[in-house]
Amino acid sequence: MAELLLPDINKDPKYYEDLYPARDLSEGMRVTRIAPSPTGYLHLGVLFMALINRLTANSTKGIFYTRIEDTDKKREIEGGIDDIINGINKFGIKIDEGFISATQQVGDYGPYKQSERAAIYQCYAKSLIQQGLAYPCFCTAEDLSEVRAVQESQKIRTGYHGQWAKHRDITLQQAKELISQGKPFVVRLKSPGNEENKVFFDDGIKGKIEMPENDEDFVILKSDGIPTYHFAHVIDDHLMHTTHVIRGDEWISSTPKHLQLFKLLGFKCPKYIHVAPILKLDNGGKRKISKRKDPEAAVSFFAQQGFEPESVIEYLMTIAASDFEDWRRANQNADYKDYKFNVKKMSLSGALFDWNKLCDVSKNVICKFNSDTVTEKILCWAKEFDPEFYTVLTKDKEFTKSIFAIDRDCAKPRKDLIKWDEAKDYCSYFFDELFTPCYEIPENIEKSDAAKILRAYSLVYDPNDERQEWFEKIKSICPGLGFSADNKEYKNNPALYKGHPGDASTIIRIAVTGRRNTPDLCSIMRTIGKDTCLERINQMANYLEN
Ligand code: GLU
Repeated sequence: MAELLLPDINKDPKYYEDLYPARDLSEGMRVTRIAPSPTGYLHLGVLFMALINRLTANSTKGIFYTRIEDTDKKREIEGGIDDIINGINKFGIKIDEGFISATQQVGDYGPYKQSERAAIYQCYAKSLIQQGLAYPCFCTAEDLSEVRAVQESQKIRTGYHGQWAKHRDITLQQAKELISQGKPFVVRLKSPGNEENKVFFDDGIKGKIEMPENDEDFVILKSDGIPTYHFAHVIDDHLMHTTHVIRGDEWISSTPKHLQLFKLLGFKCPKYIHVAPILKLDNGGKRKISKRKDPEAAVSFFAQQGFEPESVIEYLMTIAASDFEDWRRANQNADYKDYKFNVKKMSLSGALFDWNKLCDVSKNVICKFNSDTVTEKILCWAKEFDPEFYTVLTKDKEFTKSIFAIDRDCAKPRKDLIKWDEAKDYCSYFFDELFTPCYEIPENIEKSDAAKILRAYSLVYDPNDERQEWFEKIKSICPGLGFSADNKEYKNNPALYKGHPGDASTIIRIAVTGRRNTPDLCSIMRTIGKDTCLERINQMANYLEN
């Protein structure tokens, strides 16, 4: 039978066992992997899984590799491998082996792409057929749905098992005949399992899991000779000597099938670790983050918005381990890779994707960057995602750098940038082409008083003043305009004054920047320069006087 079904396969499993000998690992070293299918762009869940696998390998100075599971050619998209592997690279997750770029595979256990391994899977399938553990099934899709309909009507568990497994005992003669008629076939496992029996496995996160044994004669090779995920990953994880299979928990239900395959093939089973998905709140309920519904499911979204890869990773770490944030507080400047990760700290049910938390984490990451780094990163982002803004920023790079130096490069930098797509708004008032005046003044100040503040200030303003002097100048104009020159004095006797120096500086701030809240105004004015500041101050005064 095996010869009839797979006549071109002339190697036996021993050949591959010798070709891919055990790795030379020291005690306890872990070999992990991600096995993405290039059926879409890099998904946040895949990035998360890459991070968890990398950290698990790191914890034992082990190996993390990538394998491309491209057995579903119909769903494959162009550029999928590139997007996934380069995405992982961009996030600084080091790949030791397998695909390290879209076109480059490294390591002794390749090829690391399933479509290039068909002969290997077929060799093991042939061996199972020879042992009577697999057989050809000629059922068409219609045959299978008919069986299903009958099972449903009789309230029997659906599937190709037991008496419903039509070709389970097919003879060589029958198979020959069907093949000679040109009938396509798949290869199914002849499952020795019994639904009444239980299988157990010790999941690395969820602990002991008990499930019914698999009794389904599931497909191992499809009609084109390409394996199913069940079969392919078992062969691959065996031959590539994966010690820990860390994957999404949607695979738990199929694990009995996988355990059975490992056993029947005589392979040592890896440790299974099933990770809960990242969730989203939706209409009060929780659901898995979805490629179709959530823009943030695609990792490219974070790049477009200008999140630093470091921020996203730092945020994923808070999802990955319950005590990461405590560790971070105690080790503020440490590399996240120094954190001692253990899958046991992972959530059993899945963590909610929390946008506010991501923003918060990101603020803390960015505030540690010096002005050179911030400027460089903003330029990089703008070049790719906002070329017009890039042109404005590169007119005078030193000027641009001085903008992002304000309130940065100091002991307590402002945490006012979350992502680079905010940079344009953040710095718009530094550039005439981006500045839009806004003359909305606080309600407690009369328009005419605001105009007087601006006129008086324009007479004392000296662009060379440092912060202290600069504020003294503002104070100096207050008494003549009915404002207190002292914030405290104003607080004690508010009825005696129209306002305080803080109010006066707010009016100046609005004139120069169009907003009430900005980093240090003195530094801003020194950066913007005298002519522009005076022009804006006069323009607002004119507006208020009319
Ligand atoms: N190709 C599978 C997936 O994308 C891989 C699962 C695994 O890691 O084994 O879900």
